[in-house]
Amino acid sequence: MTVENSGRTTISAHDIEDVRRGFMLVLAAPSGAGKGTIANRLLADDAKLALSVSATTRAPRATEEHGVHYQFLESDEFERKIKANELLEWAKVHDNYYGTPREPVDASLSAGKDILFDIDIVGVRQLQRQAREDVVAIFVLPPSIAEMQARLEGRGDDNEAAIKRRMQTAIDEVSGWQDFDYIVVNDDLDNAVKTVQSIIASERLKRIRLPKLAQKMDGMIADLEASIAK
Ligand code: 5GP
Repeated sequence: MTVENSGRTTISAHDIEDVRRGFMLVLAAPSGAGKGTIANRLLADDAKLALSVSATTRAPRATEEHGVHYQFLESDEFERKIKANELLEWAKVHDNYYGTPREPVDASLSAGKDILFDIDIVGVRQLQRQAREDVVAIFVLPPSIAEMQARLEGRGDDNEAAIKRRMQTAIDEVSGWQDFDYIVVNDDLDNAVKTVQSIIASERLKRIRLPKLAQKMDGMIADLEASIAK
């Protein structure tokens, strides 16, 4: 069989990366599970992954910068954003509003960039309700509660009462594990990072994120038909 006029369509792994839609990566974990460290490693190693900057009404901490860690807003401005539907999700945590501005997320997803979220479980569920296929939710588990407590104590950020409060919050967090797509145990940091990176790599190839591949696929099918017609 001759195939002179067929095989005109070519495709590379880059083409797939170029046409795909981004996704929302949610990493959740009880404090002390190592989520922050994993998130920082992912962001440092991956130019296609950016952190979503939330809006909040809580006061900035000494090390925090407006527009980098959060958009720090007054309550009335936050409430205006809720009414104007400018937030993809929002929640009240410890008497303060927290929410995800919609516009930068929409722009990143259509540009094929993935966004990492550091939001609470209420926010995760809202994202899943609105855009299930665009959300990849990973729950990071410590190897044991004793280990988690030891990490919190070793970190030295909190006094005993604050650690107790974090352990109390962890009950709700761990109880929500069934809302997640993947469970990653962080008993070894390097392994946990690699595991999350492999989940990201697989999610990037999901067919549902590749609607723009249709033209290439039609081209390949046409090439096949042409090769048979010869
Ligand atoms: P912190 O005040 O310590 O920065 O954050 C407090 C809690 O609010 C954390 O559990 C954090 O994940 C959550 N949070 C931060 N930003 C958002 C957001 O945009 N939406 C929701 N739902 N929760 C958020």
